Amino acid sequence: MVRSISVLGCTGSIGRQTIAVAEHTGIAVAALTANRKIDLLEEQTRRLHPKLVCVYDEEAAKAFRTAVADTEIRVVSGMEGLIEAATLPESECVVTAVSGSVGLRPTLAAIRAKKRIALANKETLVCAGSLVMRRASEEGAEIIPVDSEHSAIFQCLMGRRKEELRKILLTGSGGPFLGKTREELEDITPQQAVKHPNWNMGAKISVDSATMMNKGLEFVEAMHLFRVTPDEIQVVVHPQSVIHSMVELVDGTVIAQLGVPDMGLPIQLALTYPERKPSLFEHLDFAKLQGLTFEAPDFIKMPCLKLAIDCARTGGTAPCVMSAANEVAVHMFLRGEIGFNRIYDAAAAAVAAIPAVVTEDLDEILAADGAARTFVKEYFSKASKK
Ligand code: MG
Repeated sequence: MVRSISVLGCTGSIGRQTIAVAEHTGIAVAALTANRKIDLLEEQTRRLHPKLVCVYDEEAAKAFRTAVADTEIRVVSGMEGLIEAATLPESECVVTAVSGSVGLRPTLAAIRAKKRIALANKETLVCAGSLVMRRASEEGAEIIPVDSEHSAIFQCLMGRRKEELRKILLTGSGGPFLGKTREELEDITPQQAVKHPNWNMGAKISVDSATMMNKGLEFVEAMHLFRVTPDEIQVVVHPQSVIHSMVELVDGTVIAQLGVPDMGLPIQLALTYPERKPSLFEHLDFAKLQGLTFEAPDFIKMPCLKLAIDCARTGGTAPCVMSAANEVAVHMFLRGEIGFNRIYDAAAAAVAAIPAVVTEDLDEILAADGAARTFVKEYFSKASKK
């Protein structure tokens, strides 16, 4: 297991749970980075005594530097600061728990520094999966997934050869609006969209779960992490979120990973791997389980999932454009600027308008990401927003 970590995005949902796991397992926290909830960051900083803290916003970093002037802690800012936190010599592992494609450059820097990556930022692989996986294999850097589905698949594949795998069964709860039509979702508010039935998560990923874009992003993430084609991944709707994903082997055997829906479990495994440690989390009680159900996804009611799978098949920068457009639209929805269904409309329009390019060049990838963001802003400034 690792002895020290940098937590990128330490005040978010995954970041806070990572810190709880680190404190429970005795792992040192060498660096913290945050962009929001600066009061919480100060509290974490004073408790954990990291070497380095990055506050992404320059002005907020200045204020934070003054606030912790009585300590030895170095405070940095911006993308350079994030990269410094990701490559800190004192840190063996980088937990990438930032939201959105801002995680890409620090992840690549951490790979170059041969850190273990506990990958909780799915946009990194969606945006630049080929590049990130190639660099990781060249540098010999481990990438351990923190996303619960990918952690499950990772566990199901432990000790198995690639030739034994027939397909990945990627499970998803279906989100809070399972079974609802597009018309029924027209007036959904941000408050309704962020309430997930099983998982307690940050706002962006909760909205992605409500639109099913999250499962679409996970589809692309799984392709890269496990080096499979879109035809080798099947999405299975499993509303109880007890099975976190499965693999089917060539002889027809299916192996599943089960547990309570608590992100603490995959986080802890990513840090303690290849060891396992007792955890603080609730354990599954089969006497209390009400039954496990499964269904095929309805692509008419889940257009974001369909869009993501289509983008996965197109390849190149298509998933990156979709993800960046989705990110901008989700934040606009959360600010009450656009309606719920406009998230899909914006992502689909961006994918249709911006040609996919097959590239592993970081600048070209970031250009596609930027083009998608600009496209969505213009798309909504032209159209009536609601
Ligand atoms: Mg997940």
